[in-house]
Amino acid sequence: MALDPPTMLTLTIALAAAAALYLAVEWRSIREPSLLFWSAGFATITVGSTLALLRSSGILLIGIWFANGLLVTAHWLFLLGVARFTQVRLSRVWNLIFVVWLALLLLPGEQPWSKVMLLVNSLLVASLTLRASVLLRPHGTSWGVGAVQLRYVLLVHGLFYIAKAITAVVPGTLIDLAAFRGEIIQISLVEGAMAVMLIALSMTGTERHRREQLISRLAERDPLTALYNRRALEVRAPALLADVSKARPGALLLIDIDHFKQVNDLYGHGAGDRLLVTLSEIIRGLLPQGSLAGRLGGDEFVILLSDASNPIVTHLGKALREQFNQAAVQAFTTPQAVTLSIGADLFDQPPASLAALIERSDATLYQSKRDGRDVIRVEDRTQTC
Ligand code: GH3
Ligand code: MG
Repeated sequence: MALDPPTMLTLTIALAAAAALYLAVEWRSIREPSLLFWSAGFATITVGSTLALLRSSGILLIGIWFANGLLVTAHWLFLLGVARFTQVRLSRVWNLIFVVWLALLLLPGEQPWSKVMLLVNSLLVASLTLRASVLLRPHGTSWGVGAVQLRYVLLVHGLFYIAKAITAVVPGTLIDLAAFRGEIIQISLVEGAMAVMLIALSMTGTERHRREQLISRLAERDPLTALYNRRALEVRAPALLADVSKARPGALLLIDIDHFKQVNDLYGHGAGDRLLVTLSEIIRGLLPQGSLAGRLGGDEFVILLSDASNPIVTHLGKALREQFNQAAVQAFTTPQAVTLSIGADLFDQPPASLAALIERSDATLYQSKRDGRDVIRVEDRTQTC
C-alpha cells in the first residue's frame, strides 16, 4: 500500500475532521469546556492538513510554514483543553509561544531555513504536548483510564517531536518539506494520523469517566440536601457496621422534624425546603469523622456512628437539637414549636442490615414523639444484645 503524502494527508484530514465533530457533539451534551478546546484543536489540524494537501497538489494558497504554524496552534489548544480538564492555571509563557509561532509564519519557506524551522516547529509542538502530558500525571485524584491513556499518548507524541527536532539538526537527513519528500516527512505523516486517532479516542475517554463519576455521585445523593440517600447508605453502611464490636459500639440516630408541616402550610414549600437544607448543614457541621449521614425522605434524617458511646450520642443529639431549634425559631413563627425529635440506638453487635437497624430506631423515635417531641431518646442495647 502506498503511503504517499497526499494519501496520508487525506487520511489525517478525515480523522481530524471526524474527531473535531465528535468532540463538538460530546461538548453539546456535557458542556465541558475542555472538549471545545480539543475540538477546535482537531478543526485546526483539519484546516492545516487541507491547506498542505492543496499545496502538495500545486495550489499554493499558503506558505509552507503556515500549515506547520497551525499544527502548533492545534497543540496549544490541546494544552488549554488539558489545563481546563485538570483545572490548572497555565503560566503566561505558554501564550508567549504564539509570538514565536507568528515569527514562524512570517519567515520564508525556502532553504536554508527549512531545517531551522523544522527544529523550532518540532520543539514548540514537543513542549506543548509534554506540558499537557505532565498536567495529567496523577495528583491523588483519579482521572480515569481515558486520562491515563491521554497522558501516555501525549508523552509518546511529544517524545516523537523531540526526536524529530534532533533529526532536523543531524547533517544529511532527508527533509524537503516544501515538496513533502524525505523519510522524516513520511514518518511524521504516519505518526500524525496515528496520533490524531489515539489522542481523540483518549480525550473522549477522559470526559466519559468524569461524566460517569458525576452520574454515580448524583445517583447516591438526595437532590435537595446533597446528603446520601437511602440507597447510598445501604451500600456504605455494611463497611461501617462490620467494625462494630463490644470495644467499638455503633449508633444510629433517626431524626425527624417536629411540626414541619406547619412550615410548609404557613410559609410555603420553598421555606420548608430551606429548613431541610439548614438541618442538613447542621448535621454536616456536627458529623464526627468516619460516620455517615443521609436523608431517608421527607423530614427524616439518619446518622450512623462508629466507635460511639451513650455520652457521645447524647451530646451529638443535644447539639443538633439546640442548633436546629435556634435556626427554626429565628426563621419561622408557628403555632407549635418546630423542633427535632431523635430516636437513637446504641449497639455492640452488628445488626442484620441497615433496614433492621432503622426499623429499631424508628420505634425509639416514635417513643420520642409520644414523649412530647423536642427530645432525644437513647436505647442502649450494648449490654442486652
Ligand atoms: P411530626 O411532628 O409528627 O413529625 O409531624 P410533621 O408536621 O413534621 O409531619 P411529618 O413528619 O408526619 O411529615 C413530613 C412532611 O414533610 C410531609 C410532607 O408534606 C413534607 N415534606 C416531605 N418531603 C418534603 C420536601 O422535600 N420538601 C418540603 N418542603 N416538604 C416535604
Ligand atoms: Mg416530622
